[in-house]
Parts: sequence; C-alpha cells; structure tokens
Amino acid sequence: MQHRAHTTDLVARDKAVLWHPFTQMQDWIGDVPGPPLCIVSGEGNWLVDTTGKRYLDAVSSLWCNTHGHRHPVIDAAVRAQLDRIAHTTLLGLTHPAAVEAAEAILEVAPPGLARVFFSENGAAAVEVALKMALRYWQLRGETDRTLFVSLEDAYHGDTIGAVSVGGIDVFHAAFGPLLFPSVQAPTARRRPGGGVPGRDDLVAGMERVLEANADRVAAVIIEPVVQGAAGIQCFPDGYVRGVRDLCDAYGTLLVCDEVATGFGRTGEMFAVNHDGVTPDVLVLGKGMTGGYLPLSATVATEDIHDMFLGATQEGRHLFHGHTYSGNPLAAAACVATMEVFEKEATLAQMRPRVEALRGAMREIEMLPGVVDVRGRGYMIGIELEPGMGRDPLPARTVCQRVRDAGVVLRNLGDVVVWMPPLSITDSEVDLLTTATATAIRSLGS
Ligand SMILES: *Cc1c(COP(=O)(O)O)cnc(C)c1O
Repeated sequence: MQHRAHTTDLVARDKAVLWHPFTQMQDWIGDVPGPPLCIVSGEGNWLVDTTGKRYLDAVSSLWCNTHGHRHPVIDAAVRAQLDRIAHTTLLGLTHPAAVEAAEAILEVAPPGLARVFFSENGAAAVEVALKMALRYWQLRGETDRTLFVSLEDAYHGDTIGAVSVGGIDVFHAAFGPLLFPSVQAPTARRRPGGGVPGRDDLVAGMERVLEANADRVAAVIIEPVVQGAAGIQCFPDGYVRGVRDLCDAYGTLLVCDEVATGFGRTGEMFAVNHDGVTPDVLVLGKGMTGGYLPLSATVATEDIHDMFLGATQEGRHLFHGHTYSGNPLAAAACVATMEVFEKEATLAQMRPRVEALRGAMREIEMLPGVVDVRGRGYMIGIELEPGMGRDPLPARTVCQRVRDAGVVLRNLGDVVVWMPPLSITDSEVDLLTTATATAIRSLGS
C-alpha cells in the first residue's frame, strides 16, 4: 500500500506539471489508453516501476539502450568520470573523455571518416551536418549548392533544419511556414495496391531528382538501410551503394543519418557497412552512450574538415556549438559503451538472436490483421490493418496490452515496433513474441 500511494501521488504530480513529448496530454491525463507507468529503476534489459513490477524494455528506452541498464562497465566509467569532473567545455579547452570517445568512434567508423564533432542529440547533429555541407560548398566557391535532397517519409529529428529535410506529414506538415525548401526522392515504402519498389527503381528515382537539380545540391541526406520513424521501412541491398555512386557522379555530398541504425542496431556496427559505403558525413546519436546520457556526433571526412581551415579572422571555421557539446560524463559513457562492444563481442553475440527474431517475425506475420512484418537486425516493425477490430489505434492498444505480460513497447501509427536492447536473450525474445501475439489476437475483444 505504501508503494501504491507513492505511485498515485507521483503520477498525479506528473499530470499537474509535465508536458510530455509526442504525447496527447488529454489522453495522458485521462489515463487513455491506460494509466502511466512510472519507472524507478532498471536492471539489464528490464525496467522496474514504483510497484516493483518488471517490464522487458523492448523499446530500448526510445531506441537508445544497447547493452542493457546498469551495465557494470558503463556504470563504473560514468562514476569514475563523476569523481573527476562532470562538465567542462570543448570550446577552447579539451578533456580526455572527448578525445577517447572520438578515437573509439573513428576506430569502428567506415574508413575515410576522420573528424568527430559532438552535440547532445540526434537532431542537433543533423543540423551540424546540414551546416557543414552548405558551408563546405560556399567555402569551395560553389555558392549555388544550397539545396538538400532527402527521402520521402524521412525523419531526422525535430529541430527546424532537421524537420526541413523530414518527410512525415503528421510530424512535419504543421511547421511548414518555418521550414526551408528541400526536394524528396522516393522511399522504399510499399505502394498502395502494389509491392515494395526494387533497388533499381529506387536508385533511378534518386537519379531523376539529382539530374533535375544538377549543380544546386549541397547534399543528399538519407537514413541508410532502414527508415525508422517512417515505420521501419527497409531498403533493398545495394541501395545505399547506388546513392553513394550517384553522389559521386553528380559531385555532391552524401550525409547518412545513423542516429537510429548506428551502433549495431541492424546487425552491423553501422548500416552503411551492409553496402560497404563511406558517407561524407555520418550522423550518430541514440546508442552511442549505450542509452545512458545525451551525446551525438557529426563525423566528417578530412576533406570536409580541411575546407574550413584558414586564419581565424577569415571566419572560415564552423560557427556552431552547444554548451554541453562533448560533455565528459556522456563521453565517458560512450567510451565504455564501445569497450563493451569489443569485450562482449556484441555484434557476434547478436547473430543467433537476429535469426531468432526472424523466426518470431514469421510467427507474427501469420496472425489475422497483420499487414506486414519487416525489419533488419534488431529493428522490426509489425504493421497492423488500420482500424482493426474497430479499434481506431490498434497498434497503440497492442502496446498497452503487452504491459500486462511485462513488456514495454511503443507504436508508430499502425506499426508496433520491436527495438530491443542488443543484449536481449533468447527467453526474452520468446516473451516479446508471445506477449505481442497474444495482444494482437485480443484486438476486437
Ligand atoms: C531519433 C532520430 C533522430 C533524432 O534524434 P534525437 O536525439 O531524438 O534528436 C534523428 N535521426 C534519426 C534517424 C532518428 O531515428
């Protein structure tokens, strides 16, 4: 009873003062589709609420947890950093954690990337990539290259520049008056009444856009291999290679936003590794601190970096930076996260689980009302028939109902998303599958 009173009190206080991100507060305050969960601790792949009930964190605390909660190596690294200093700046000073984090990232990054620019969230790192690209061409004297090419259904974050290259209407359309124009190339989304477009069609679609805008394109920005927020849309093998070749042929830059796909999410360290591609700019976030602390990075080639060199008074340097850019606690968590990847051979350990998840996907696919199950590695989308069982939001209902079985999920529109920590075990995959299947079967009742 002690606990219950505590929960009720906290949730009531939450409802009085908080405004939650991406949340209809009328529903939240009205306990729709259910009362809020209040998480007080975590352990491995599990979250614990105020009543002591445990939940499998199958959303990886918004796609960012990689090695589980309270991992001893990452915990120790953050504590050790805390005992030295919590924050100092990278503006005019440096510190060991930032240097080590940059080195650790470059060690695993595709060859040719050479410079790490830190921010604290994915959207900010995208803004930096856009500024880098625009300014790179200005400094080269090609001042007409001001246009960005993005993909339909793209998601690159919620700040104004990132939204300008975004393509998801429900997230982006309302902010039209604030945005700069960009042009869009076709996504791999299934076409109404048709199939999924093939690699050659998609590459040809990109080429048409580049051809039409020839010398005006500053950069092409894509989420390589999987568009996450679009509902886990998967691109065919060879697409990223095709876009890389087009960028070379048309003499423009390729920015790959791996905020979601990076750090093992698709089964490779980075999604571009599937096609053996090095982008000119790689954008990282989410998993880079193991899901511990806010940190992101915009990683560029030496060629791009060097274009910004000159005497200070020439003003060629990159005019961008945040107060907490490269924060030591976050950087220490990043270094430890990369250490764990190596020590625990995370990518090799994932392989049998990727197979297990594929088996689980086939099981879910057979259920009535499931339109499509797709994914790559540990990034999986289960698309439900809209309005299924006369439920206007069936995927949200599924995510609510799996809580009874001890699983936390979050949907994207009609898509139930599986995004477990890379450390998920076989028995946890079974729990996730059974809980999801049971919830989907229960729709309409
Ligand atoms: C989540 C995400 C972002 C934004 O990252 P934030 O840290 O939420 O700002 C950008 N790009 C992609 C592909 C993402 O999935």
